[in-house]
Amino acid sequence: MIRDTETMNGLLDSVRRFVRERLAPAEEVVAETDQIPADIVHDMKQLGLFGLTIPEAYGGLGLTMEEEALVMFELCETAPAFRSLIGTTVGIGSQGILMDGTAEQKDRWLPPLARGDLIASFALTEPESGSDAASIRTRARRDGEHYVVDGTKRFITNAPEAGMFTLMARTDPAQKGASGITAFIVDAKTPGISLGRIDRKMGQKGAHTCDVVFDGVRVPAANVIGGVEGRGFKTAMKVLDKGRIHIAAVCVGVAERLLRDTLRYAMERKQFGQPIAEFQLVQAMLADSRTELYAARTMVLDAARRRDAGEDVSTEAACCKYYASEMVGRVADRAVQIHGGAGYVADHGIERYYRDVRLFRIYEGTSQIQQIVIARGMVRQAS
Ligand SMILES: Cc1cc2nc3c(=O)[nH]c(=O)nc-3n(C[C@H](O)[C@H](O)[C@H](O)COP(=O)(O)OP(=O)(O)OC[C@H]3O[C@@H](n4cnc5c(N)ncnc54)[C@H](O)[C@@H]3O)c2cc1C
Repeated sequence: MIRDTETMNGLLDSVRRFVRERLAPAEEVVAETDQIPADIVHDMKQLGLFGLTIPEAYGGLGLTMEEEALVMFELCETAPAFRSLIGTTVGIGSQGILMDGTAEQKDRWLPPLARGDLIASFALTEPESGSDAASIRTRARRDGEHYVVDGTKRFITNAPEAGMFTLMARTDPAQKGASGITAFIVDAKTPGISLGRIDRKMGQKGAHTCDVVFDGVRVPAANVIGGVEGRGFKTAMKVLDKGRIHIAAVCVGVAERLLRDTLRYAMERKQFGQPIAEFQLVQAMLADSRTELYAARTMVLDAARRRDAGEDVSTEAACCKYYASEMVGRVADRAVQIHGGAGYVADHGIERYYRDVRLFRIYEGTSQIQQIVIARGMVRQAS
C-alpha cells in the first residue's frame, strides 16, 4: 500500500540521488577499509533511513511494507553493506518491540532507534543453534526484578555498533523447544556483555558481525518484550517473516544494479568486430537475468501488498526470500560471465558483488529452510 504517491516519489527520488551521488562512489573505500565513512552514516540519519519502518509517532517514517520494498529496490542499487548498517535497526532488531512490545518499551526504545542514535541488533543464532533456532541454549534465569543471562550468540550483524540487542533466551529450561524462549531488550552497555573478534567474511565488507557473549548479564524484568515469558520464539518468527520480504527486496535492488552495469558493459565491449551484446548467447544470459529479476520484483510487491492488506503471508514471504536470493546469485554469476576476465578481477566491482550476494541465501533462514517453510505452509493450507 502506498499512502501518498507524491511523498513516496519524493522519498524514492532522494534515495536514488543519495545512492548515485554518495553511496556508489564510496563502494571501493568501504570494501577496502571495511568501514562506512562517518559522514555517510550522518547523511543516512539525516535522510531518515534508520527510521524507515518505525511509526511516525516515534519519529520514524512508518513505511508500509510496499513502501519499504520500493525504498529497498532503490537503496540496494549499491554495495549491500550500506543497507546492512540500517537493516537491523529498520528490521529484525526493532520489529520485535514494534510488534509485541509494551507501550513503555516502545516509548523508551523506538525514538532513539528511529533517529539512528541507537543501533539495534537481533541476537538469535548461537554456535550450536542456527537453522534449528528453537534449540537455543542461552539461559535467562529470573532473580527478583531481573533476569541473569548467560550464553553466546554468533554472527550477530552490527553487534560492534549496537546500542541494544533484541535477545532470544531460554527462560524455561524444562521446555526444550520454542515455548521456553523469551525475547528481551538488552542495553548493549550492560556489564557482563563482551564481543568476539569481528568475523572475517567472504563479502559485504563494511558490515560487521561477531559473537556476543553474555556472562551473568542482569537484564531488568521490565525488558521482557511484551512483558510475558515464553513468547519470544513467536516474536522472532514474526520478525523474520517480515524480514524475508525485506531481504527479497534488497536482492532485487542489488540484481538491478548488477544487470544495468552488465548490460552497459556488453554494449560497449567489442569482440569479433561487434558489441558482445549482439551475440545471441550473451543475449540469452541478459534475457534470463531480466526475466528472473522481473519475476522477483513482482513477487516482492505482491507479497508486500498482501501483507499491508492484513493477509498472512508467511508462505509468500518465504517464497520471495528463497526465489530472490537464489535469483541474485544467478544474476551475479552471469554478470561475471558476461564481463569475462574483467568480471573476475576487482577493477569493475563485479567480483565484489558476486561475493556480497552469496550471503542472502544463508542468513535470515537458508534456502533449504525457506523450502521447508513453503512446503509446510502448503500442507497446512491443504489440510
Ligand atoms: C554475515 C552473517 C550475518 C548474520 N546475522 C545474524 C544476525 O544478525 N542475527 C542472528 O541471530 N543470526 C545471524 N546470522 C546467522 C544466520 O541466520 C545463520 O547462519 C543461518 O540461519 C544458518 O545457520 P547456521 O549457520 O548455523 O547453519 P546450519 O543451520 O548449521 O545449516 C548448515 C546447512 O544445513 C542446512 N540445513 C539445516 N537444517 C536443515 C534441514 N532441516 N533441512 C535441510 N537442510 C538443513 C542449511 O540449509 C545449510 O545448508 C548471520 C549469519 C551470517 C553469515
